[in-house]
Amino acid sequence: MSILSFELSREHEEFRRTVRDFAEAEIAPYAAQWDRDHHFPTDVVQQMGKLGLMGLTAPEEFGGAGLSGEDGGFTSLCVAIEEVGRVDQSMGITLEAAVGLGINPILTYGTEEQKGRWLPDLVAGTKLAGFGLTEPGAGSDAGATRTKADMVGGEWVVNGAKQFITNSGSDITSLVTVTARTGERDGGKPELSTVIIPAGTPGFTAEKAYDKLGWHASDTHPLSFVDARVPEDHLLGERGRGYAQFLATLDDGRVAIAALAVGCLQAMLDASVAYAGERQTYGGPIGRKQGVAFQIADLQVMLDASRLLTYKAAAMRDAMEAGHAVPMKDFKHAASVAKLYATESAVTATRIATQVFGGYGFMEEYPVARFYRDAKVLEIGEGTSEVQRMLIARGLGLPVE
Ligand SMILES: Cc1cc2nc3c(=O)[nH]c(=O)nc-3n(C[C@H](O)[C@H](O)[C@H](O)COP(=O)(O)OP(=O)(O)OC[C@H]3O[C@@H](n4cnc5c(N)ncnc54)[C@H](O)[C@@H]3O)c2cc1C
Repeated sequence: MSILSFELSREHEEFRRTVRDFAEAEIAPYAAQWDRDHHFPTDVVQQMGKLGLMGLTAPEEFGGAGLSGEDGGFTSLCVAIEEVGRVDQSMGITLEAAVGLGINPILTYGTEEQKGRWLPDLVAGTKLAGFGLTEPGAGSDAGATRTKADMVGGEWVVNGAKQFITNSGSDITSLVTVTARTGERDGGKPELSTVIIPAGTPGFTAEKAYDKLGWHASDTHPLSFVDARVPEDHLLGERGRGYAQFLATLDDGRVAIAALAVGCLQAMLDASVAYAGERQTYGGPIGRKQGVAFQIADLQVMLDASRLLTYKAAAMRDAMEAGHAVPMKDFKHAASVAKLYATESAVTATRIATQVFGGYGFMEEYPVARFYRDAKVLEIGEGTSEVQRMLIARGLGLPVE
């Protein structure tokens, strides 16, 4: 997308149609049932892989499409997440986390050996990886990580716990990357590094899946590590760079979550317009009433603004990768602004749509009820709204803590 044209390219729009056709045929008809059954549809996740959605930006040598920044690769990923999220937020977050949290850290920081070993299956979507940053005592304050990885006899011995980790305990999870204390710096600050823990490592357990408010068809577990041993070469990237690695991972993730929120907004607008044209009260459709129609007009405004902010940030990310002079701090700012605005708008949009549907908005037979439950977490995952406001305020030079 050219930032000035405010439009996606023809290729991106064609790609959008492909993903939309897939999402409407393979996901939309089943999403309510998966939600009711808390069922993680492994086969459909693997179909997303077959369609190439996990490997858009991965190099061809690992089975990816090799889309570069010049090709608008990250923008393509956002389009895919938006379109999948438009019919099902659970599958949208599964795709987002599979790429942003599963593949990207290995692609960005992995050695050739690590990439060759893990990426082909992840890129094909036959396997998934989780990214374990959050802990019971360290969420927004992720630097407070307590999980430890000690080097003993040429192996990392990992002890600790992670919580709320997406794609970490599915049938096809092949590994999780976790941040851990690997030492102490001068001045007593922890040295944080990232370690790859393959599924099945003795001492590593993906505990029982959470009973969540929404995202019922997504895979989320607490993880525990009790003397889980992995070889020395399972360190991901440089020792002591764990903090910088997760900050960079989350910048991209914020834009991707904003795209998921745009999918939610589009779904709420479409559903509300359709219902307001059909539902009759007082001898005419409810859309005749300004009290209803004006709320739906607001949905359109929120959708347009969220989409622009999201794809502007995505275009900046692509431009940076293509070597254009986009200052990192401008991208970080754009990512936080897009995440904050799009996710808060999505939550508001689900409230409005539920109201437009009246009593049916509270019934699971219409998708708006599911979107209402699914939307809330958008304001929490990959940096809460408060964290985004803190980052934006700091960027403005305010002395906020
Ligand atoms: C379904 C789901 C999936 C997730 N998937 C993953 C995953 O795959 N990997 C992973 O690592 N994590 C994952 N997370 C964790 C998520 O990123 C954290 O929940 C989030 O960062 C918030 O951390 P917390 O839950 O510890 O809340 P806390 O940090 O305890 O925050 C509680 C409240 O206090 C506010 N707060 C905290 N600090 C400040 C401050 N300085 N100023 C103002 N307000 C503040 C917060 O905004 C929030 O409102 C997932 C979470 C959920 C719910």
